[in-house]
Amino acid sequence: MCKEILIVGAGLVGSTCAYLLQKNGFTVTLVEERLLERKDKLCGGLITPRAMKELQTAFGAVPEGIFRDTFSSMICQTESFSVPVHNIQLVSVLRKDLDGFALEKFTQLGGICFDGISIRDIDSRRHVATGIGKDRTRREFSFDAVVMADGALSHGRQVVAGQKPDAVLSLEAEVTATGAPLLMKYTEELWGYYWYIPAGNVAKIGCVSYGEGRDLETSLSRFASSLGIAMSRVRGAFIPTGGSVLLKHKDAYFLGDAAGLICPPSGEGIYYALKSARMAAQALANAANYEALMARDAKVVEREYRTRQLFFNRKFMDSALAAAEKTPYGSERAVKFALRHFCSFDA
Ligand SMILES: Cc1cc2nc3c(=O)[nH]c(=O)nc-3n(C[C@H](O)[C@H](O)[C@H](O)COP(=O)(O)OP(=O)(O)OC[C@H]3O[C@@H](n4cnc5c(N)ncnc54)[C@H](O)[C@@H]3O)c2cc1C
Repeated sequence: MCKEILIVGAGLVGSTCAYLLQKNGFTVTLVEERLLERKDKLCGGLITPRAMKELQTAFGAVPEGIFRDTFSSMICQTESFSVPVHNIQLVSVLRKDLDGFALEKFTQLGGICFDGISIRDIDSRRHVATGIGKDRTRREFSFDAVVMADGALSHGRQVVAGQKPDAVLSLEAEVTATGAPLLMKYTEELWGYYWYIPAGNVAKIGCVSYGEGRDLETSLSRFASSLGIAMSRVRGAFIPTGGSVLLKHKDAYFLGDAAGLICPPSGEGIYYALKSARMAAQALANAANYEALMARDAKVVEREYRTRQLFFNRKFMDSALAAAEKTPYGSERAVKFALRHFCSFDA
């Protein structure tokens, strides 16, 4: 059994996997390119029931005191419709708190995270990875198996498997919460979606586009104005499209965003990060097949990648919701059905 595991990236997936492997007696080296005190992942921080269940399974209990808001309803909008959706169970979290919790669980077991070191090269034959520190010094790390948890632009994916990750740009800003409800808006103009997610005193407002050549900044600023929000400090981050899932290549395991595991029509990645961390740890501990353990999730992501287009197509959305309005079920049931069947959104 391989015992020395190198994990590249101390985001949610890397820290969770590090914790689970350390708990199972592996020697874990966790390397993070950013300095831990400066690390702040751009994220709406919306946690679905399935992600919450994964948190519970991975860590034994859900972390206390980090959840900011609980939502029992939300608004789903298109260019023409605004549909309130009730009886849901979502919570929001600030990613700094969630990622900090996972990392702390690892360090409480004696684990060490080497921060400020960017892994630039992985020699799969010699089983040695080379990193460059902030001070330009070279560091080498040996391993039996390597876990790539280095996010949507995964450099490791290119180095190890020669595959460029498929990711799109998203924008997000932290704003003062206005009291407006949780909101998702799908539009053809963006060929993507917007979100407004309250989290205590603050809220995350953002957008992502699968279309080419969209002016994200202008679109987001218009969306903010429509909610009466003044934005400052808009930041950008890449998010996988979900179009190219890669789970394993030789001795390298790909997890979370690095694997391309995301729900394309909703951007939900926290669930996949936690699940892939748990499955990779399980596979390594029991010499099981990680790809087989994740096969169903990978298939779902690939299917949802194809069907995401429906959410951005104005003609389809308008006619589907208008037709639903005329039935006894109404548009709310139609939206819930769509979320469940096209986003695996089990809220
Ligand atoms: C704007 C935005 C909003 C989102 N909102 C939600 C949401 O509301 N709910 C939800 O479920 N999901 C959301 N997601 C998706 C979710 O944030 C991701 O799927 C999740 O963070 C994946 O975690 P990860 O650990 O794989 O990647 P990351 O959190 O990106 O972690 C990767 C880590 O690897 C490090 N790294 C990168 N390269 C190297 C290297 N060469 N060497 C060493 N370290 C390296 C990075 O610094 C980083 O710390 C959102 C994503 C974005 C971009």
